[in-house]
Amino acid sequence: MNILVLNCGSSSAKFQIIQTDLNMIKEGTERCLASGICEKIGAESGLVSMRATGKTGIKDKPYAMPDHRAAINAIFEWIDSGKAEIDGVNSLKDIDAVGHRILHGGEKIVKSTLIDDYVISVIEECIPLGPLHNPAQVKGIRACIDLLGPSVPQVAVFDTDFHSTMAPEAFLYPLPYDYYERLHVRRYGFHGTSHRFITGKYAETVGKAKEDVNIISAHLGNGSSITAVKNGKCIDTTMGHTPHEGLMMGTRCGDIDAAAILYIMEQDGLSVKEVDTLINKKSGLLGISGISFDMRDLEKAAFTDHNEKAKLALDMFVHRIVKYIGAYFAEMGGAEAVVFTGGIGENSPLIRGMVCSRLGCLGIDIDEDKNKGLPRGKGGEISKDGSKVKIYVLPTNEELMIARDTVSCVEAAKK
Ligand code: ADP
Repeated sequence: MNILVLNCGSSSAKFQIIQTDLNMIKEGTERCLASGICEKIGAESGLVSMRATGKTGIKDKPYAMPDHRAAINAIFEWIDSGKAEIDGVNSLKDIDAVGHRILHGGEKIVKSTLIDDYVISVIEECIPLGPLHNPAQVKGIRACIDLLGPSVPQVAVFDTDFHSTMAPEAFLYPLPYDYYERLHVRRYGFHGTSHRFITGKYAETVGKAKEDVNIISAHLGNGSSITAVKNGKCIDTTMGHTPHEGLMMGTRCGDIDAAAILYIMEQDGLSVKEVDTLINKKSGLLGISGISFDMRDLEKAAFTDHNEKAKLALDMFVHRIVKYIGAYFAEMGGAEAVVFTGGIGENSPLIRGMVCSRLGCLGIDIDEDKNKGLPRGKGGEISKDGSKVKIYVLPTNEELMIARDTVSCVEAAKK
């Protein structure tokens, strides 16, 4: 099957076409045939970059995209153009199903599911819980139904899925209980597709059943979260009601005293919208360094240019990661491995080294030669042979997970 995997963000739409074996699900039988991104949707001029695997394709081509429907149209035009050179996909007729990454289905839907009117209505209902992503994702779904027709199955894969196994003591906030019942205020957790993929990948790497996996999965990217995985299931995760909670991130401050926010609002007369921008877009690595939200820029600023604020931003980022790994270690009653993934987790030996060097008390002993020598894009173990707790770097692949779920849902519906 050829699965189109679509990930619509607030102003972008990323896609991959993944070919899967019908008799899957077996690791290694899938191939990414093409990938691309439509950026600056809604801006005066958008940009599209798309290419078939191993081909040049198009890069940063200006394309007017007033909305997500126009972006999806751009992707479909390219697939249908006869010039895309995608192996085994000559037109839209060769797309067998679409898998959509969906941020939030609240408590009503968490498991991957075939999309119908009810599913769309739930995703729409959850727009207040995911105001940036859910509207874009609904538009993506509707555009695919209109442009591909109702006979091509579409599947929704939720970011919150993997975290639905958390117990009430982990997912509830100690607010009056009524806020959970009436407004569904609770911790949902995000990046679930990545943490789920990492749990499976780790099991496969060390030759274990998923149910026996006890790891701390650290997805460190622009958005960052850590998940405690006990017996293959999430028992706690750092993101909460929204992706804002937990670690310090590129532009999000993460955990903060809620009363400090009230104080800032009062002192500076900020509106709810202004505070939202402050804590989600202006804080984190960017807010402390004043330079950039991008880890590459900050590593250079801190260690080549000796910029104090950049160094402080890195120290704070690491401090919070160390704190959560320690907390989850206690919560889980010990873990067999810490696994790093995401843009920073996979590519920054510096951050991995800074984190692990502070975790010796837990029996975590990093091998700096392995850490620094790990080839880019490749996973592997980076702990010393005698390390009580192992350390792994495993590249995540959320798109593949979405493609696999899509095939499973489509196949299950045939039975
Ligand atoms: P997103 O949450 O947007 O998916 P990514 O997982 O792509 O983010 O991660 C982006 C982050 O990864 C950025 O902070 C970027 O600087 C960082 N990153 C990518 N490559 C490197 C590298 N070689 N060294 C350090 N950081 C890197």
